[in-house]
Amino acid sequence: MLLVMKQNATQDQIDDVIERIEAAGFTARPIPGGHRTAIGILHNKGAVDPARFQGLPGVKELIPVTRPYKLVSRETKPENTVVRMGGVAIGEGRPVLMAGPCAVESLEQCMAIGKSVKESGAEMFRGGAFKPRTSPYSFQGLGEEGLKILAAVREETGLKIVTEVMDNETFDLVEEYSDMVQIGTRNMQNFALLRRAGLAKKPVMLKRGMSATIEEWLMAAEYIMERGNDQIVLCERGIRTFAMHSRNTLDLSAITVVRKESHLPVITDPSHAGGHRCQVGPLARASAAMGVDGMMIEVHNDPAAALSDGGQSLYPHQFSKLAQQIFDIHDLVRTQGEI
Ligand code: PEP
Ligand code: MN
Repeated sequence: MLLVMKQNATQDQIDDVIERIEAAGFTARPIPGGHRTAIGILHNKGAVDPARFQGLPGVKELIPVTRPYKLVSRETKPENTVVRMGGVAIGEGRPVLMAGPCAVESLEQCMAIGKSVKESGAEMFRGGAFKPRTSPYSFQGLGEEGLKILAAVREETGLKIVTEVMDNETFDLVEEYSDMVQIGTRNMQNFALLRRAGLAKKPVMLKRGMSATIEEWLMAAEYIMERGNDQIVLCERGIRTFAMHSRNTLDLSAITVVRKESHLPVITDPSHAGGHRCQVGPLARASAAMGVDGMMIEVHNDPAAALSDGGQSLYPHQFSKLAQQIFDIHDLVRTQGEI
């Protein structure tokens, strides 16, 4: 249930309503919005009787939220959410490019890639220090040493850092070093991790589970927001289908649906979707045409020697050209407007 206050409601009236909601045994969650003050009523076991709050001073109306995801739903918050990290804003127009290697391998590797992608227009650097690998015999990441390398790249280039957190044990560490923590496809329904992410002071990038429905994905985001963190970026990274020609199937139609259902920014990861270098450019250009708020793209200065995902990593010069194409397509689509 969403309680909408009148536009001229005073702070005292808002505080009084919040107090009454809490006294009734529910959780009151003020929803920041440009045009109205709304308060989400959460943790109700059954339907909330609107008569309880209707008619209180300052209250305009009570609207039932029909979707199972409440806080992330557009019913609750019609305006787009913008996720901010210093000067970088995701969801405010120009797509934010996050580029870098699959895994942090060395300081030299990350510095070389970081400087180059920055030059090409990326605003964030990606790279895994803790890697979720299918095989326990594959390179598992450098751990804290990798996080220190990422921090050095930020220091040198000014790029913001996004890196994956795999478990609650290392959450504090990853949060400390990063500007945005990434929850990977394999952990989308790790509810303990989602709850911890909800307490994080940093934005969270939530990748779609490789076999998750849109509803499951949004419910995972709801876990994070329910705990208080409303800085969430959704990332479509491809889902498992019968297609064998690509690593995953980039579900572009999901972008349209998620935008309609949720106010959260949405980005794509054409690298893990395609799984082959030659598919990354076309999928990225298609994503730009869909009007995504950003993209995560793997780039390596020596893909043949990469310790992880070399085959889908772009060469720096390819990323440079692609970034320009992405910005050009974005501008074109924006000026054309919706049909
Ligand atoms: C990654 O971005 O490094 C990664 C492992 O992606 P995903 O969780 O989408 O497989
Ligand atoms: Mn990868």
